Amino acid sequence: MSAGREDLLALDRAHVWHPYGPMPGRTDPYLVESAAGVRLRLGDGRELVDGMSSWWAAIHGYRHPVLDAAMAEQAGRMSHVMFGGLTHEPAIRLASTLVELTPPGLQHVFLCDSGSVGVEVAIKMALQAQRALGRPGRQRLATWRGGYHGDTFHPMSVCDPVGGMHALWSGVLPAQVFAGPPPAEFDDAYAASLEEMIERHADELAAVIVEPVVQGAGGMRFHHPEYLRVLREATAAHGILLIFDEIATGFGRTGRLFAAEHAGVSPDILCLGKALTGGYLTLAATLCTPAVAAAISAGEGGGLAHGPTFMGNPLACAIANASIGLLRDGRWAAGVQKIESRLKDGLEPLRGARGVADVRVLGAIGVVQLDHPVDMAAATAAAVAQGVWLRPFRDLIYTMPPYVADEADVDRITAGITAAVAAT
Ligand code: PLP
Repeated sequence: MSAGREDLLALDRAHVWHPYGPMPGRTDPYLVESAAGVRLRLGDGRELVDGMSSWWAAIHGYRHPVLDAAMAEQAGRMSHVMFGGLTHEPAIRLASTLVELTPPGLQHVFLCDSGSVGVEVAIKMALQAQRALGRPGRQRLATWRGGYHGDTFHPMSVCDPVGGMHALWSGVLPAQVFAGPPPAEFDDAYAASLEEMIERHADELAAVIVEPVVQGAGGMRFHHPEYLRVLREATAAHGILLIFDEIATGFGRTGRLFAAEHAGVSPDILCLGKALTGGYLTLAATLCTPAVAAAISAGEGGGLAHGPTFMGNPLACAIANASIGLLRDGRWAAGVQKIESRLKDGLEPLRGARGVADVRVLGAIGVVQLDHPVDMAAATAAAVAQGVWLRPFRDLIYTMPPYVADEADVDRITAGITAAVAAT
């Protein structure tokens, strides 16, 4: 171990706050020196196959030459300019490409900083549109349990009320309307309960917000796409807006470019983030229909009340354009399919193993759910010992590898998951 590495970790312990933890942290983080392809190189020289794609964003792997070149080229022109009163080609190209690729009907794009802010913007759009349409009483949101939409306050209010942070923030978060968690299979009674919830609360609901097909950080659960059609019809019947949060599912993760395609359903508002820039820089996009935009624009204030300093950051937009360019040849789909079948082969033997409650795979997502809370330090260390980076949470040990992971990489990841399961 070099003195430099120890010094850095000591400074980290003294000053740097890490996600969801106390200060100082309970365990030291692993120091990463560099990353390339699907591998993270640690400060002590070890190399780990990345099973997390940096929280599901680095779909093309690290230091991709096309993304690196796009970043360098854009940095040579301008890294940033304000977006109020100014515009630029990277943002214009990105917005038009997103309109072209996303489900039909979404025509307008609001670029912002991060997934949580993208969801804030979506909610603000819904509330402002309802107010502009003469329904100011429609201020609540409905969703189903088991969701996750971000860590800022309004997104927190639609996260799962048990697994999320509602208990900590009761009395602070707005009280939203929740249906039960969506079942994996189609169930008429559950579909009817969604319709009933929407009808009962119609006069107070601005929008329904859900993650389509896969609920990510709320529990890594998959549900039947037909529920999205049920939500589409019920919301439309009552003038309630439908928001799809595809921050985790967008750009191919579930095997379709957007998860809404599994159901053939278009929302009124769509949130994108994470893989938008191939995991290089923070950027989110909130898209909406002309009807939503027209209502807001004709309403009080005459526009959407939002405009972050780094809105439409050219560097992030240029990388997003390059990342989408890599997806456009369609080769990602074969990569995701290969990962899916290899994950199934590698994880299926864990079904029925001691401590395992469920094994599920969809697209480039592999999940092992335990029947007990994971010992995160032990599980992580066991995976690292196998040369794999995983970040389990709650009762879940899972992977979302970069799409460029080859079969040997995926086998290594499933070996890491197996070791992590055995260690916890
Ligand atoms: N929405 C979903 C579905 C997410 O998975 C996440 C992040 O995990 C967010 C919103 C929040 O995104 P960010 O962490 O970029 O704020």
